[in-house]
Amino acid sequence: MKIGFIGLGNMGAPMAANLAKTGHDVTGFDTAGVSVKGVNKAETAPDAVRGAEAVITMLPNGDILRAVADQIIPHMEKGAVFIDCSTVDVDSARAVADQAEQAGLLAVDAPVSGGIGGAAAGTLTFMAGGSDAAFAKAAPLFEIMGQKAVHCGAAGAGQAAKICNNMILGVTMIATCEAFALADKLGLDRQKMFDVVSTSSGYSWSMNAYCPAPGVGPQSPADNGYKPGFAAELMLKDLRLSQQAAESADADTPMGQIATALYEQFVEAEDGKGMDFSGMLPRFEKRGRS
Ligand code: NAD
Repeated sequence: MKIGFIGLGNMGAPMAANLAKTGHDVTGFDTAGVSVKGVNKAETAPDAVRGAEAVITMLPNGDILRAVADQIIPHMEKGAVFIDCSTVDVDSARAVADQAEQAGLLAVDAPVSGGIGGAAAGTLTFMAGGSDAAFAKAAPLFEIMGQKAVHCGAAGAGQAAKICNNMILGVTMIATCEAFALADKLGLDRQKMFDVVSTSSGYSWSMNAYCPAPGVGPQSPADNGYKPGFAAELMLKDLRLSQQAAESADADTPMGQIATALYEQFVEAEDGKGMDFSGMLPRFEKRGRS
């Protein structure tokens, strides 16, 4: 298949490389002039998408996605599929899908989970929103870049699933970290804390699979000086998207709101920028009640 790929950053570059490795004819464009092995380099975004049956975008945010969509949609072939894998706000995802459909294209919003490691290994999970026909056309590409793709519903449903998932993740990570810090102050051994909670009703992915306490549980960024992993500023981005969506849908999300405020403080006023999002634990360790 002839594929255009826009946004060859930490995630996009390995995703495009994996598509090229399986014999697809991939042409990429990135404003930073990035070259990726096996991927043809275009000089402009329209050059990357002309004649392509599928176009994938992997961009930083909704405003950039909207700007890129304006640039490329007029140059895409009718019937081609526009697959946006960036994490963006639900409103931008829906607006771009609308614009693509009005131009005779198929559209899927398909944010991913699995991070840079999953992108390189081709083991991402895709959460997709769009019509059945659009999903069917994109599915073989999801299979190459990932291990699972869930068709969540109409346009925007993929982004909705992603931000709801990550709102739960942000909240449970904070709860896990503050509970470890409390356990420390109560004189409870961290290994015992893990042994109990990971097999009791307080268990979660944050505790069981990504334990924020070094030397306890499975290998995680905590065992590597809290080097990301999943950076605290990316968690903040996703939490902000969850609150933006909650505003526009008039949903009450008090825990999501508190998690957003805490990650904001951690990243913007403390030393959290560049740290894994589980670095909340050393933050709580240093603090008292006031
Ligand atoms: P990144 O900053 O490494 O890559 C984004 C790329 O887009 C950059 O190379 C940039 O030069 C390029 N770009 C910006 N504006 C452009 C434009 N107008 N035209 C063409 N290219 C342009 O970011 P990333 O880590 O690859 O993340 C991409 C998306 O994936 C984000 O929405 C992020 O939230 C999401 N995501 C990231 C991770 C992760 O672990 N990094 C995990 C899941 C989802």
